[in-house]
Parts: sequence; C-alpha cells; structure tokens
Amino acid sequence: MSEQFDLIVIGSGAAGLSVALGSGGSMRVAVIIRGGLGLDGSTCWAQGGLAAAVGPGDSPGQHAADTINAGSRLNNKPAVRWLAESAPEVVRWLLSLGMQFDISNGHLALGREAAHSFPRILHAGGDATGAELARALREAVVHQPWIERYEFSDACEILKRGPQVVGVVARNRRGELTRLLAPNVVLATGGIGQLYRYTSNPVEADGSGLALAHQAGAELAELEFVQFHPTALAPASESDIPQLPLVTEALRGAGAVLVNDLGVRFMLAASSQAELAPRDIVARTVWQQLAQGRRVFLDARSLGDNLRHRFPNLVNACSQRGLDPRIHLVPIVPAAHYHMGGVKVDLHSMSRVPGLYAVGEVACTGVHGANRLASNSLLEALAFGKALGERLGQRGPSVPISRVDNSIGHAVRRESTNDQMVMSRLRQIMWNHVGIVRTPEGLQSALHQIQVLERRCLAGAPVLRQLLVGRLVVEACMRRRESVGAHHMEASVPHYRIDGQAVA
Ligand SMILES: Cc1cc2nc3c(=O)[nH]c(=O)nc-3n(C[C@H](O)[C@H](O)[C@H](O)COP(=O)(O)OP(=O)(O)OC[C@H]3O[C@@H](n4cnc5c(N)ncnc54)[C@H](O)[C@@H]3O)c2cc1C
Repeated sequence: MSEQFDLIVIGSGAAGLSVALGSGGSMRVAVIIRGGLGLDGSTCWAQGGLAAAVGPGDSPGQHAADTINAGSRLNNKPAVRWLAESAPEVVRWLLSLGMQFDISNGHLALGREAAHSFPRILHAGGDATGAELARALREAVVHQPWIERYEFSDACEILKRGPQVVGVVARNRRGELTRLLAPNVVLATGGIGQLYRYTSNPVEADGSGLALAHQAGAELAELEFVQFHPTALAPASESDIPQLPLVTEALRGAGAVLVNDLGVRFMLAASSQAELAPRDIVARTVWQQLAQGRRVFLDARSLGDNLRHRFPNLVNACSQRGLDPRIHLVPIVPAAHYHMGGVKVDLHSMSRVPGLYAVGEVACTGVHGANRLASNSLLEALAFGKALGERLGQRGPSVPISRVDNSIGHAVRRESTNDQMVMSRLRQIMWNHVGIVRTPEGLQSALHQIQVLERRCLAGAPVLRQLLVGRLVVEACMRRRESVGAHHMEASVPHYRIDGQAVA
C-alpha cells in the first residue's frame, strides 16, 4: 500500500508539530508517531521551561553569549545568533496558539537558571512546561485537515530514488507495513537517552532517527556530546527501569544538599560553588562517589513543608517509592538527559541527503556546542521546526512520486524478547563505558562488546538500530581525545583508533 504526501514528518514533539503547523496548509502532510499525537517523546516531560530574551534589560545578544559560553565555544555562532533572535517571535507564536505561560504581575513570569545571565526562562504550570506546550501544539494540529496522523507506528526505513529521498516505510502496531511517499522527509525523532541504563528520557528516545539518517547516507556529527543530569531519583532495585524521574536542580538552589551514605557533603570539596556548580561538574562528582561504591542522596529535609508546595513532582515521585523527602534522604543517580549531537544540518535544517531534513534533539545544528544551556532545547525544536515548515510550505504541492523500487522487505522485523535482552545489555555497556567519565580502555571495551552483540543479532532485528547508534557514539568519543564540555576523558594514554590499534 502506498500513500502520497508532500511532506512526511517523523515525530510529534515540539519539533515535529512545529514543522507540520508551520507548513500552513498548502501541502499534504503525514505525521508518523510511535505513540499518540503530541503525547509521547521528551517534550511532554520538559519541566523548567523555554529560554527567550524577553525580559527588561535582556537581549538576544546576551542570550547568544550565554549559549556560547555553556557550549565551550564550539557552537555554530550564526545558528546561535539566529536562534536567540528568533526566540521572542517563537513566544508570540505560542501565545497565539493558546499556550498558557505562567504570569506574574500581569507579565510573563521569567525564571532564572544556572548559566543564564538574566531571568529568561518562561514556564507553564510551574514545572509542567512541556505538558502545556504539547497540549497547545496538539490542539492546534488536530484541527488541521491537511495533516494526516499515523499514530502508534514506527518509521523503519527511509526510501530513496538515487540520491533523493522519496518516502518512508512505517510499521503499525499490528505489524502491517505502509509505504508513504513524499519528496520531503523530516526527522523529528528526539534524543538517545534510552541507550543508557539511567536516563530521564522516555522510551521513544532510543536514537532510531539517527539510525534511519545514517542508513540513508546523512552525516551525523558531535555524537560524543551527551549531557547527563546530576540528579534523577535512583531506582529501588537493580532491575532495568526505562525512565527515571528528574530531581530538579531548583531543589539545590533552594538549599538541598548532596551527601553520601557516610553523611559526607562531598560537593564542598569538589567545587567552590558546592551543589550549585555547573551540571557536568556535579554529575561527574556524583559519578565518582558511585564508582567508589558509595551511595548518594539529596538531603532536602531543611526545606520542610515547603517541599509540598514548591516541588510537588518530587514529593509525588518519592511517595511512589515510600519516601517522604521532608523526613527521608532521597537516593539519586545521574541520568543521560540530552543529546547535543545528531544529524548534521545547515541553518535550513537540511542534511546532505536531498529531501531529508532534521529538527529538534535529533538534529545537530551546532547551536549547543559541547554542552547545552538549560532550556534552549525546546526553543531550538520550535524555532527551527517552524521555520522549516514555513519554507517547505512556500513550495506548495509537489509532483506525485511515480514508482519506488526499494523492497519493502528491507524494513526491520518486529521486536522479540532477544531484542529486549540485547537492549538491556547495550544500556549497561553505554552507562559503564560511554557515560559521564570515559577512558580509552572503556571505550575500546564498549566498541568490542557492541560489535559482538551486532554479530549475534538476526538481520533486520530492531535493536540493530540502537546498536548502530551506540557504536557510532563510541567511535565519536574515540575520535575526540580531549575533554571538552560534556565529553570527559580520564587518563590520556593510551588512545586507540577505531580499528583497535593503540596510538602514541
Ligand atoms: C525530563 C526532561 C525534562 C526536560 N526539561 C527541559 C526543559 O525544561 N527545557 C528544555 O528546553 N528542554 C528540556 N528537556 C529537553 C527537551 O524536552 C527535548 O530536547 C525536546 O522536547 C525534544 O523535542 P523533539 O521534538 O526533538 O523530540 P521529542 O519531544 O522527544 O519527540 C520525538 C518524537 O519522535 C517520535 N519517534 C521517535 N522515533 C520514531 C520512529 N522510529 N518512528 C516514529 N516516530 C518516532 C516519538 O514518538 C516522538 O513523538 C527535558 C527533557 C526531559 C526528558
């Protein structure tokens, strides 16, 4: 079965829905989604908010400067400038869609987060910004007759004719394959947190979009830059928990401290800013404690009854574990949180494959450099997504695609229990060796173990996509020898080439 469209969008987070809406009705658009429209992916989980220089005294120039500092100056500067300048317009657009930002004294309430030099974080429902954003976008999309939804479907192959992209193969939950044809395909598939044993990301964030892009011939860039959040609620058991609740940084801002199981407040020795040190320093110090066999806790008891009012999400998540943070220490682990790397795209979100675009967390625009400034990711997804949709929409309807020779049989198989076991193993390998602290030996070991797993999988096994992306992340880590931003290498000798040879 083949369906004709002008534009196919894979993913319905902030990025995918912005593309679909931005296209404006002049094209026939298909949106393929793993779950329900606007109900899955990381967008719904976003908490803190969306960065935009709209407050008194603030400016896009200052926002851009903060972004470049956070990114260790490895950012794509024109992309950063464009993003910071686009932010106020993105906010106006969201307001026009009916998004209910929090208001204070009749103005948009602006929070301040670490490494932002001004209060510029817009939020909604306190720490429920992503849920409100997803609601506003979803309600705007469901009323558009030109947007067709393929829900509970997995995009499993990108179709090409010669160099040009011509469509996507999707598998629905009954296992049926559909061929959707279009000259424009946008990847908006989110991040890779699920490749790690501990992650704040939902199950959809498993890097399948990166595998699709790689298989279609797109370039992937800066895959080694993975941001780890220092504090997620530790699982109660050693079982493989897909997604951990975040324990927000605002708790530390409000006075909560980190202690180990000996009662030592170890951040005092690690940084003059103690618990308020930058995210990567806190994550690394927590990791070192865990590596020494210690357990780590957030002590928020000094906040007392304020916890219930100010941090209801934490109180709820803890109560599901039988914990009361007013009385108990909260066990924490760091967690894979955001991927700065992705499909290399230009300022127009174009990959090097004609007809293939990428937006949001799956893309690498270079905006974040080596580390993301908090609350810039929703902004990036919205700004680049909307602009791409508008550009494609201006082209209007395309010439129908006549015939596609790719065999639909190339698509991946259905998931088996073996896939789940392999995925669990991969998550452990990535956590142990490709996580917060990397060493040449650890990366070499990870590469070897992943290659063994790849050889043991049947052709077409779904988990091969995750193994591929894991291997590409390891190889990117091996190429970047120096520590920079979120990529931290311990021990400088020896380094290994990807083929396993030690180099001086
Ligand atoms: C707990 C948490 C808190 C966060 N807080 C903030 C914050 O406060 N501010 C901020 O700026 N950022 C925050 N982030 C990051 C931010 O939420 C994400 O970077 C952003 O939402 C990514 O949007 P996206 O549209 O690119 O992808 P997502 O929102 O992740 O959407 C991906 C979509 O792709 C679909 N998909 C994936 N693979 C396939 C496939 N093969 N076939 C079909 N569909 C597929 C999924 O179903 C989903 O619809 C947070 C992230 C998390 C996890």
